[in-house]
Amino acid sequence: MMRMRIDSPEAYFESLRGLERRIYVMGERVENPVDHPMIRPSMNAVAETYDLGQEPEAEELLFVKSHLTGERVSRFTHIHQSTEDLVNKVLMQRLLGRRTSTCFQRCVGMDGINALYSVTYECDQACGTEYHDRLKEYIRYIQSENLVVDGAMTDVKGDRSLRPADQADPDMFVRVVERRSDGIVVRGAKAHQTGSINSHEILVMPTTAMRENEADYAVSFAVPADAEGITFILGRQPSDTRKLEGSPLDVGNPRYGSQEALVVFDDVFVPWERVFMCGEHEQSGKVVERFAAYHRQSYGGCKVGVGDVLVGAAQLAAFYAGVDRVSHVRDKITEMIHLNETLFSCGIACSARGEATPSGCYLVDVLLANICKHNVTRFPFEISRLLQDIAGGLVVTMPSQKDFENPEVAPYLEKYLKGSADIPTLDRVKVLKFIENMTMGCGAAAYLTESVHGAGSPQAQRIMIYRLADLEEKVKYVKRLADID
Ligand code: SF4
Ligand code: FE
Repeated sequence: MMRMRIDSPEAYFESLRGLERRIYVMGERVENPVDHPMIRPSMNAVAETYDLGQEPEAEELLFVKSHLTGERVSRFTHIHQSTEDLVNKVLMQRLLGRRTSTCFQRCVGMDGINALYSVTYECDQACGTEYHDRLKEYIRYIQSENLVVDGAMTDVKGDRSLRPADQADPDMFVRVVERRSDGIVVRGAKAHQTGSINSHEILVMPTTAMRENEADYAVSFAVPADAEGITFILGRQPSDTRKLEGSPLDVGNPRYGSQEALVVFDDVFVPWERVFMCGEHEQSGKVVERFAAYHRQSYGGCKVGVGDVLVGAAQLAAFYAGVDRVSHVRDKITEMIHLNETLFSCGIACSARGEATPSGCYLVDVLLANICKHNVTRFPFEISRLLQDIAGGLVVTMPSQKDFENPEVAPYLEKYLKGSADIPTLDRVKVLKFIENMTMGCGAAAYLTESVHGAGSPQAQRIMIYRLADLEEKVKYVKRLADID
């Protein structure tokens, strides 16, 4: 469908109303996801990418000049032209993580177009295909309309001990089931699709390096989210139905949230103009590696922004309880900051050490990006543990908003849940509810579990780290110093 360029949160919500999609939430088809209380907070988080907000640096971080058109475009639709672009991407993600304290979902599409940009260029050189120009045309389209793109990589994978072509059910990895003169027909499903229900477009990439007999699985394409044959099934999160209770206090971070869905492609037609890989199996591994590298860089920005909020929550909870000047509390907050800034350092380092690919698009330092994400699989847990330590057990024993509204018990809560005498009880409860959400409620889905598995589970980084570390060189260093031939 044709739409106007989206340039505000309101226009973004309207644009999603215009999509006719098959979306299921808790067993029911949802016609209007925009106003659904379990979906809307995640949409609000994406909407922040359309908002300059109050931060003076936001314009420079959120917008950039397109190398294709010279126009001012969202950085989420931009192809990185320098290490400065890579650094600014991380700064933008930290800013948005701070604003929302969750996953704002739009980075996967950005990381997808950047990975495909260099790989389609190299594929055309090696295989005589014409994917790169097609992709550029597609990028012009998403830039001009300012669309949200779901970058869809993770297949459902079936039996993990078997290759895609050896599965009992051949649809465990998205594949081409028919090649036609006007396009291809695809079938399969992508799991844990971040922000997919909040996206206008779905950009599919292969999930692993394919072999010669798996050419049908070496497929990359883009389709509108309302293309025929696509079904979205929303994933649940801990405490998600609190969003249906009409008690924002109990949600903890009521305005924002994250989202993952299972996206099913039931014989979806894709015209050739939107196909960016079809059978070039030897190119597929590069897409996975580069996409993963960009997204592992991303976590050195977004999760750090969330960490900023959690450090703030620790400080505030400590202050409300009257313990902010206690030395061990200060020490724990110092440790939280140390861990969080270490993640940021990794995000900046892999960006600053990025290099141009033959296509002109800049790629991060892949080893350092893997180090970045590997730290992210651990540090947010320690940050959360310290935050819970400081916050105290009340985080899991607080009564509900409805108790605070019941005149029979509210005075007891006011009196007995008070911390420092001059702090309103409810303010203290609000920050503790926020901590509950972030460390074990829906917020933890984005901050903790996503930190482990998003952009690849820990073992995926360890494989890359071992492979890229150049052990032979390191052996030479010691041999030279120890006089070993
Ligand atoms: Fe962006 Fe972070 Fe969410 Fe990935 S996890 S989409 S990098 S906010
Ligand atoms: Fe993610």
